[in-house]
Amino acid sequence: MMKICPICKRSVKNFKNNSHVIPKWMLENSKVYDVIHRTVELKLEKNNLKRKLVQDGIKGSFICEQCESKISDLENYSSKFFKRDNFYRKANRKTIPDKNNSLKEITYYELYGFDFKKIQKFLLSIYLRQHFYNLSIGNNPLIISKHLGVLLKLYNETAIDYYTYPIAIYHMQPSDKLKGGGIVYQPYVCKMDGHYTLQFYAVDFYFILDISSHLGLFPEEFILKPAGLLMVSVDSYEIIMRTLKNSVS
Ligand SMILES: [Zn+2]
Repeated sequence: MMKICPICKRSVKNFKNNSHVIPKWMLENSKVYDVIHRTVELKLEKNNLKRKLVQDGIKGSFICEQCESKISDLENYSSKFFKRDNFYRKANRKTIPDKNNSLKEITYYELYGFDFKKIQKFLLSIYLRQHFYNLSIGNNPLIISKHLGVLLKLYNETAIDYYTYPIAIYHMQPSDKLKGGGIVYQPYVCKMDGHYTLQFYAVDFYFILDISSHLGLFPEEFILKPAGLLMVSVDSYEIIMRTLKNSVS
């Protein structure tokens, strides 16, 4: 029986086998993953996030070979910026004083010189793959249909659009003593300040897609866009936002 690929809508005989939701290089670049080889699947059930451990990351058969091969080009490109060694070589590390604590400094990163569309498509492909994986095994969808249509459009079109569903990336190294640090998190739905977001954690980053609206969950500076990207750590995010607001007003 022929199958319809959910990304390109072509009719194909078979889907690619062993398709990863989060690519292998991201898993292998996540420190703790190297030791215990497992990822965490989070599910929102009645407003509670439930954790389930998955060995070697989620993989399955849910898109066509052609889409898989296009995504693998995007993965290769993105690895030049987000593999741990590449990131720390390419990103500029900046520190500013914490206005609320003279003994502390706040660190953030600037990343420039990437092809926005390729990085955006790469990240969108990961949320989409988790969604289509869920459907392929009869789990609840990750993305409701009204958002799915927009995500697929953003993924498939060539026009630059960074504001409809903005993406922000938080930096967090596994050594930070925050819950779950270092373990890979498969894409999950999370409510932040009343906005629905899709998030996953891999390498040293939370990749966060705001699917509620473009009205201000992230300040403009922290949105992935063609001109570049600023990244802050999870624990200094609030402080940076305050500092930025103060410096603007
Ligand atoms: Zn396809």
